[in-house]
Amino acid sequence: MYNAIIIGGGTSGLACACFCNKDTLVLDKQRIGKKLSVAGNSRVNLTNLADLDDFIKAYIPNGNFLRDAFGVFFREELIDFVSKLGLKTQIENTKVFLSNSNGEEFVKRIKNYIIGRKAQIHEYERVTKIEQNKHFFVHTTKSIYEAKNIVIATGGLSYPKLGACADGYNFAKSFGHNIAPTQPFETPFCIKDDLFKNLDGISLDNVEIKYKNKIFSGNLLFTHFGLSGPTILDLSCYTKNGDKIYINFLGNDKEHLLKDLNDENKNLKSIIKKYLPKRFAENMSEKIPFIKKKILEVSKKDLNLLLNLIFNYKVTVELCGFERAFVTKGGVSLREVDPKSCASKLVKGLYFCGEVLDIAGTIGGFNIQAAFSTGYLVSQKLGSLPLKNI
Ligand SMILES: Cc1cc2nc3c(=O)[nH]c(=O)nc-3n(C[C@H](O)[C@H](O)[C@H](O)COP(=O)(O)OP(=O)(O)OC[C@H]3O[C@@H](n4cnc5c(N)ncnc54)[C@H](O)[C@@H]3O)c2cc1C
Repeated sequence: MYNAIIIGGGTSGLACACFCNKDTLVLDKQRIGKKLSVAGNSRVNLTNLADLDDFIKAYIPNGNFLRDAFGVFFREELIDFVSKLGLKTQIENTKVFLSNSNGEEFVKRIKNYIIGRKAQIHEYERVTKIEQNKHFFVHTTKSIYEAKNIVIATGGLSYPKLGACADGYNFAKSFGHNIAPTQPFETPFCIKDDLFKNLDGISLDNVEIKYKNKIFSGNLLFTHFGLSGPTILDLSCYTKNGDKIYINFLGNDKEHLLKDLNDENKNLKSIIKKYLPKRFAENMSEKIPFIKKKILEVSKKDLNLLLNLIFNYKVTVELCGFERAFVTKGGVSLREVDPKSCASKLVKGLYFCGEVLDIAGTIGGFNIQAAFSTGYLVSQKLGSLPLKNI
């Protein structure tokens, strides 16, 4: 008989287990912390230094649910815990990353920490069914376990190749919970466009993308399926399929290029290559063959065409699906979960934490923070040690 069984040893389940007492069992159908170990390209964007109000706004639209969880475990506590594990952090703009380590090492140290506290971890053991009699009975691919409390920490649907699946939603439904409709969030754009062909892996650091009245600026990455990178992932949290966006590939380098165009004897393509990757310039030649000419040989109309292509390129949004999305919007309905404990309002002893809840953060460390804060909050309801004693 366990005090608690945590279903899912991803970010939130591990966070919860770190602070639980020894009568705890973590079950995962694969290696624990798979997503956490590759988060932020393995650099792990842990959290963010945004003001609390901006922090809350980063979860569209349900950030207010997290106020209580942040009240007991926020970024200071997370950074402090990471340093207790012997790891350092560094700040880039407002994002906080691991600095002297990577996701694999982070997960390894979390695992040792949990085992050191005498909780148990069973990897490669999938939960198939949960029944409730007086206690909970958790059926897995290997056994049946009994527990007083159950924590569903099974994550969302994004990135199935890292283990994402709908099991958690199905367990929640079996206890009468509603699931807010799920959709991919923080997702690249799947776009077929000759201008982007053969550019996989190339990134531009200084783009500006106009969407409605807002400008999103920063890094854009070309991929074999379309566009990705932090700016696109951020933008995708606000757009829907069919929306139009306008890309300035040169951002604030625009003025320098315009200045170079005053030299009428220069060849257009050679100027473009100074600012944009060679292969991008080659792709442009297919759309505007006059790019090979000298500036003085090009009509004003053609020159405007070229400027439009570099500074105001229209793209129709096509969001990629769960296969490539980083986060899942939707999940266990927050109306049926107490924000002060993340306990089910329908079933005593049942808890939820992490992305399985209807919480989705934009890019910047918000999702890992939410996973840790909700995981910690749940641990405190399971008769665990308070943070200061850990
Ligand atoms: C590639 C990538 C990079 C990311 N980078 C960042 C980043 O840098 N910063 C950030 O804030 N967010 C990042 N995110 C998002 C963040 O990783 C997630 O929001 C967070 O890990 C969610 O934690 P979770 O515990 O809810 O779910 P997960 O970490 O997905 O864990 C869920 C676990 O449940 C297990 N499970 C599911 N069903 C069962 C079952 N039936 N039985 C047993 N186990 C089960 C799964 O195997 C999995 O291990 C990234 C996401 C991706 C895909």
